[in-house]
Amino acid sequence: MRDFSSNHDWLSINTATVRKQSGAEVPLDRIIDQCAERGIRAISPWRDQVAAVGLDQIARQLKAHDIGLSGYCRGGFFPAADVAGLKAALDDNRRAIDEAKTLNAPCVVLVVGALPGALEGKPAYTDIARARGEVRDGIAAALEYAREVGMPLAIEPLHPMQAADRACINTLEHALDLCDELDAARSGMLGVALDVYHVWWDPKLQQQIARAGRERLLAYHVCDWRLPTRDLLSDRGMMGDGVIELRKIRGWVEAAGFAGFSEVEIFSNLDWWQRTGSETLDVCIERHRSVV
Ligand code: ZN
Repeated sequence: MRDFSSNHDWLSINTATVRKQSGAEVPLDRIIDQCAERGIRAISPWRDQVAAVGLDQIARQLKAHDIGLSGYCRGGFFPAADVAGLKAALDDNRRAIDEAKTLNAPCVVLVVGALPGALEGKPAYTDIARARGEVRDGIAAALEYAREVGMPLAIEPLHPMQAADRACINTLEHALDLCDELDAARSGMLGVALDVYHVWWDPKLQQQIARAGRERLLAYHVCDWRLPTRDLLSDRGMMGDGVIELRKIRGWVEAAGFAGFSEVEIFSNLDWWQRTGSETLDVCIERHRSVV
């Protein structure tokens, strides 16, 4: 297992972690400067943050700072109420893939979607099996385009508490079954983004990480599970402040062949988003060395 204790060469910052600083939204170009000042070598930005500054400007800035990506957030949300909606979702995924290409991302992370409209509180239907079918078909279609342009897709299984509104793929096993169905050759073009927040509780986690192997493990996201969790979406803990055995899980991931970045992804409206970006990033670096 790699030793992270003496540097933060393998730290990546998912830019959601510092999208709000002292309670206010901060533009991505400022976040990139803050990462560059600290010698952080990789980030994973969100599409809306990129769009707000401009895709080409962000691409130039990353290049100037020699900062790479550990992923691009995000594609997915495939299910829809009707054919026009399904097509719109696929078109949007193609645009995400193109943007990821421009930014030289190693993969597009897929939050696959669930009951269409549920995120807004009004699901167009309640048949989760139908949603899973639409997810399958959507990934298959997006994968065709991803193969053409050479941009891997990483399915992120989400904690089952988000099965209705964000992702109806909820275990690593389910995600890998889909990978095997759509990419039996293990081409490296379809895999998973493993986020400890979503999968740490899974009794099959170690076994399924071994099954995934290097070809399927495209991204690794870390944070911690707070006690108590005060908000299901945005109360993630800083690494070391919760119950997730991060060293153990990274050991499994690296034993399976993963040698990429540990990407810190913390949505924290009640805590870290209220602190300064400097403090949050400095603590990310310290915890990366001491507990990740
Ligand atoms: Zn994640």
